[in-house]
Amino acid sequence: MFRELGSAETVMLEDMLSFRDNKAQTIKMLCKDYNRPVVSFALNIAGEIKSFALSRAVFFDAVHRISFSISNANISIIFETVKLDKCSDVAYFVIDADAVQVKRLMLEIEKHDTAGRLYDIDVYEKNAAPVSRNQLGLESRKCLICNAAAHECARSRRHSYEEIMDVTLNILKKNFASIIGNLALKAMLTELDTYPKPGLVTPFSCGAHKDMDYALMKKSANAIAPYFNEICYNALMYDGEVKDLLKTLRPIGLRAEKAMYEATSGINTHKGMIFSLGIFCAAAGYLISCNEEINDNIFEVCSEIAQISMDDFSLNGNSSGSCHAFAAKGARYEAANGFPNVRYSGYETLKNSLKNGLSVNDSSVTALLKIMTKATDTNIMRRSSPACLEKMQNEAIRILQLKDINEIIKSAYELDKRFVSNNISPGGCADLLAASWFVYYLYNAVKNDV
Ligand SMILES: [Zn+2]
Repeated sequence: MFRELGSAETVMLEDMLSFRDNKAQTIKMLCKDYNRPVVSFALNIAGEIKSFALSRAVFFDAVHRISFSISNANISIIFETVKLDKCSDVAYFVIDADAVQVKRLMLEIEKHDTAGRLYDIDVYEKNAAPVSRNQLGLESRKCLICNAAAHECARSRRHSYEEIMDVTLNILKKNFASIIGNLALKAMLTELDTYPKPGLVTPFSCGAHKDMDYALMKKSANAIAPYFNEICYNALMYDGEVKDLLKTLRPIGLRAEKAMYEATSGINTHKGMIFSLGIFCAAAGYLISCNEEINDNIFEVCSEIAQISMDDFSLNGNSSGSCHAFAAKGARYEAANGFPNVRYSGYETLKNSLKNGLSVNDSSVTALLKIMTKATDTNIMRRSSPACLEKMQNEAIRILQLKDINEIIKSAYELDKRFVSNNISPGGCADLLAASWFVYYLYNAVKNDV
């Protein structure tokens, strides 16, 4: 009845009983083995379906957040593990600190996180006795729907399953959309911080641009970030056919462009980015709302979502001679084909470079060069010429043949100088680099691995 739960497995009473027993055993064992307090974390989901794509994505993000808060309070996490189960996904942390101090910290997280009302964070003393809210002089938790004590409403079954799930799913969706909005911003800023980037704006140069610099790009990225959250939320709420999704998102894209022009006093810093990253944010929301785990299927969904932009383009085909239409065509073509330059060039290169121990910056420069070897960057075609594009592709191929990363970085720096003097800027490639980072961060956030 709830699309978000899809065909998720139903939990029987006996499953639940043995799950609870196992959980209690795990906590006892961890406390005993390490002789330290233990924190357990799960999401409170009512009913017989306890784990689905949306809940799991929010769960993993919360695990990262809890882990970060504990470390940030200068508390060492001695052991950390996650157990996925149809009865509930649970994270366990063994910590080297006073249990009551950690309980206070966890209560802060429950209070402030968007999905905090669904968090079930328990802290156990090293003898496995739970630290209760009452021990800290706090009231018991409130019900999601009314203001009564949660356990009272649960016992008396005051609210229907539908009512509780409606509220629960909406909290999860808001949280997931905000995760996506944050990842989009992080991806744009990682791209912007990358140096050297031939012809593009970096923290140390304006590339071939006379009308924009690092501060302006940063301001613009921050101005458009909330719209990626909104796009994802709308895709999560959407229940039509995927091929028509873009139509419903277009007004949000237009408002994002308006916010960009307001932030930059009329300069087009991120129009291509709004389109490309927007499609990824929509695809993430769409997949999760159908209870599909996010993996490389995101590229196929991007392609399905973007198909309509190609139809639109040919409908207005007689404007193809104009610079603007030309620039739009490249991004649309890339999207409608499932972003091959993100999937096979940018993201692949980031993943492998980081795995091989390259720094974030050097991986990012390498991924940009890889994208430049193949992408039909319409910014270059528009500002320069097709011959210039071919030259750029060959230069990128030549640089990537160098084996030493320092040589690659040095050559990228030299290429930047040539691009600047020839007024060449591969802006389309920069958008694809940001999208590659988005995919990398997304996989890391929702899959708990890369
Ligand atoms: Zn209630």
